[in-house]
Amino acid sequence: MKYDAIVIGAGPAGLIFARYLGEAGFKVAIVEKNNELAVKPCGEGISSRVIETAEISRSEVYRFLSREIKRAYIFAPNGKRLTVEESGRTMGYIIDKRNFLKVLSEYAVSSGVEIYISEPAKNFSRKNNTLNVYTRSHVFKTRLLIGADGYLSVVAKKMGLEKRGERRVIPSIQYVMSNVELDDYEATYFFTGNNVAPLGYAWIFPKDGKIANVGLGVQKVSPRTYLNKFIRDNRKYFSKSQPIEFKGAAVTISGVLEKIVDDNVMLIGEAAGQVIPLTGGGIHTSIAGGKIAAEIAIKALEEDDLSKEKLSMYKRKYDLYWGKRIRDSLKGLRAIEKLSDEELNALAEILSPQDIVNLANGEKISEIAKKILKHPILSIKLARKLLI
Ligand SMILES: Cc1cc2nc3c(=O)[nH]c(=O)nc-3n(C[C@H](O)[C@H](O)[C@H](O)COP(=O)(O)OP(=O)(O)OC[C@H]3O[C@@H](n4cnc5c(N)ncnc54)[C@H](O)[C@@H]3O)c2cc1C
Repeated sequence: MKYDAIVIGAGPAGLIFARYLGEAGFKVAIVEKNNELAVKPCGEGISSRVIETAEISRSEVYRFLSREIKRAYIFAPNGKRLTVEESGRTMGYIIDKRNFLKVLSEYAVSSGVEIYISEPAKNFSRKNNTLNVYTRSHVFKTRLLIGADGYLSVVAKKMGLEKRGERRVIPSIQYVMSNVELDDYEATYFFTGNNVAPLGYAWIFPKDGKIANVGLGVQKVSPRTYLNKFIRDNRKYFSKSQPIEFKGAAVTISGVLEKIVDDNVMLIGEAAGQVIPLTGGGIHTSIAGGKIAAEIAIKALEEDDLSKEKLSMYKRKYDLYWGKRIRDSLKGLRAIEKLSDEELNALAEILSPQDIVNLANGEKISEIAKKILKHPILSIKLARKLLI
């Protein structure tokens, strides 16, 4: 079976990449290890701009929409609540990720993409400019191999792109909970502090009815112990609630890998490290990665030049906006990880709620650093590190 491109992984990045190659007339297949889409847990929060980046028709949004989000509440360690909102406008959505991926799969399949479900890619070999992809029951031949296989990427490791120890991940777990009582179902809730989620944060993202995704990412402690404690400590929301699903996975928080292309190979999405480190948000950044990679891959396939040099235009293009945001958020993460709860409380006093969101997302970093420079301790511990 000979293809122009084989994509490993049917997550957001892989489905978007395959769709654009299919639309350009190339023969593409996706191989997916699981027997259904969206097995991995997810908070399912996206900004409204994701719909534009993914070029999904507005009339399709109802198919995966769980909640429109108009506000975000961020709780400092001392309990102070900061509200981020844009005069009542929709800031984002909590989606049903399985339905979202189904919609993305429909775009891909209607452009001619083949999907092989329940087919884990196990190994790869190269003969000149053709790669063999060995899955559970097939051998595929391809001119271009795409690693869209997430944080455990076998493509990144087996094709020698990911260096040992290069990827840092944060363990994250989540309950889907029934009958959660929130004072505002149009808001996402974020909780910080070493007592709540050491070196990470906890979230409550409301879905349909009173269902909510309740999770956290933490480092150096047991995630489950802390998530259960979070639920016990917040009886206001959870006293009449029960978990109906529990899942865990990790999120890459070390930024984009140094090497994301090689001859006939590209990494996209979380496999490439395309996640905002401070928030762990990876859907938008992965979709953007898949889209930019597709644009470069189409030119390379048309010119029959799949050399590392030709494909590296993808990394350069991604770096201009998304790579910079990821690097800036990583600087923020590295500095914030060293702050005590008292210092985090002080940060919540100096910065506006929007500044905090921008800092987390790696946006307007120098403006934020200038504000922090006025604080005697935080200027050394945070502002200068952001400006390097
Ligand atoms: C608990 C949790 C909560 C999160 N919450 C959010 C959130 O609210 N908002 C947000 O933006 N991001 C969130 N993220 C991050 C987000 O889920 C990912 O960054 C994003 O899904 C990455 O997309 P991707 O397509 O690159 O990879 P993935 O979504 O990880 O998809 C990779 C695909 O590859 C498949 N695969 C892996 N290995 C193989 C193989 N050997 N052969 C074949 N297939 C393979 C997997 O089964 C999977 O389908 C969260 C992550 C976690 C763990």
